[in-house]
Amino acid sequence: MSFVVAIDGPAGTGKGTVTSLISKELGLVNIDTGATYRCVALYMIQNQIKLEEKEKIIASLPAIHIDMKNENGEQIVFLNGKEVTKEIRSKEVTQIVSQVSSIKEVRFAMVEVQRKLAEGKDVIMEGRDITTYVFPNADVKIYLDGDENERARRRFKEMQEKGINMTYEEVLKNIQARDKNDKEKEVGALKIAEDAIYIDTTHLTVEEEKEKVKEIIKEKRGK
Ligand code: C5P
Repeated sequence: MSFVVAIDGPAGTGKGTVTSLISKELGLVNIDTGATYRCVALYMIQNQIKLEEKEKIIASLPAIHIDMKNENGEQIVFLNGKEVTKEIRSKEVTQIVSQVSSIKEVRFAMVEVQRKLAEGKDVIMEGRDITTYVFPNADVKIYLDGDENERARRRFKEMQEKGINMTYEEVLKNIQARDKNDKEKEVGALKIAEDAIYIDTTHLTVEEEKEKVKEIIKEKRGK
């Protein structure tokens, strides 16, 4: 039987960082589900498909093949056989991804990809609707939250470190727009599952947050 850890929450709560660290420490396969939506957004940019062209986006779904590999807890992402791990984090992708992921048909296709990636494995999976929609019966369900200014500050720092050119205001605006859009989605909206453990990360360091999440997992998993 596989063991599933599901983690949800808005951008900048440390989901990605903590998940990647825990995946290494506990030997769980790390699946960042946002990467699947980012691949669809990147495909649209590469093929000059606009957000307004919903039918075209839906029609292109069968041509989008996503794969992920874990190397030392790091997730390597492939879109149609080409590595796109870095490209899917670009400003251009980040700006349209939330709207792309609001399209019902895109969600259905990506949820299928995500479930397949997890099949038969012990996984730690993070996103927006993992605890509520993708794996509502996950063994561990956690919701990470945090003050939006603190989340924007973290994301801004990360962007700077990666050399992505965005101002703090742009990052904050993007986070606010994505939060709103993610919470209002018709399918797979961001919400706190009734049986999820809620953690406010605003005043936690990455190490503190990681230890908290890790303890919850270890308790449930028994190792
Ligand atoms: O986590 P990340 O910021 O990479 O996710 C990018 C976008 O993908 C989010 O803003 C959200 O709109 C969407 N997403 C989603 N459901 C998920 C994961 C991500 O709708 N499970």
